[in-house]
Amino acid sequence: MSDTKMQPFDQLVRELSSLPGFGKRSAQRAALSLLKNRSKINKLIHNLKEVDDKVEECQTCGNLSLSNPCHLCTNQERNQSVICVVEGVDDLWAMERSEFFDGVYHVLGGVVSAIDGIGPDDLRFKELLQRIENTNISEVILALGASVDGSTTGHLLARRLKEKGVKVTTLARGMPMGSEVDYLDAGTLTLALNGRMEI
Ligand SMILES: [Zn+2]
Repeated sequence: MSDTKMQPFDQLVRELSSLPGFGKRSAQRAALSLLKNRSKINKLIHNLKEVDDKVEECQTCGNLSLSNPCHLCTNQERNQSVICVVEGVDDLWAMERSEFFDGVYHVLGGVVSAIDGIGPDDLRFKELLQRIENTNISEVILALGASVDGSTTGHLLARRLKEKGVKVTTLARGMPMGSEVDYLDAGTLTLALNGRMEI
């Protein structure tokens, strides 16, 4: 996309296009749309500030919430002894939408990837192992994507968790190959959770 010679505008397009899901063209369209509808700019400034001020990362599970620890980690009506491990917060929210799982979560923050140079130390492996040591956990459910990296991460984690003597299960592979957890509909996710296997 060529430079418009409007430095603030070009800077905005650059910022937007650095976000996931935005290419250069869609970033420019979004920026133009904001300029045509100036009231949206103020609403957006307000929203961004509010999100920045109020949303916290739960130091226990990695969820994003208005409190730390989050409302899931402090809810005594949930089964605090079963942890479901997910790749990202969007996966956690997808699991919550299924309304089937009543345990708690652990967000890894990604999966190991040789290509991207991401190893276990770059993810929240250590925090999970600490949770297992400090709390009474009866089962860890691995709900990672069915990609090669997701499977590799699952195996690495399962090995370390089993060393701690905890039962480890994984979602049933009724999941379509290559699928991501947050793209599954609630029904498929519930089936996958129901048919989980010990590994
Ligand atoms: Zn939490």
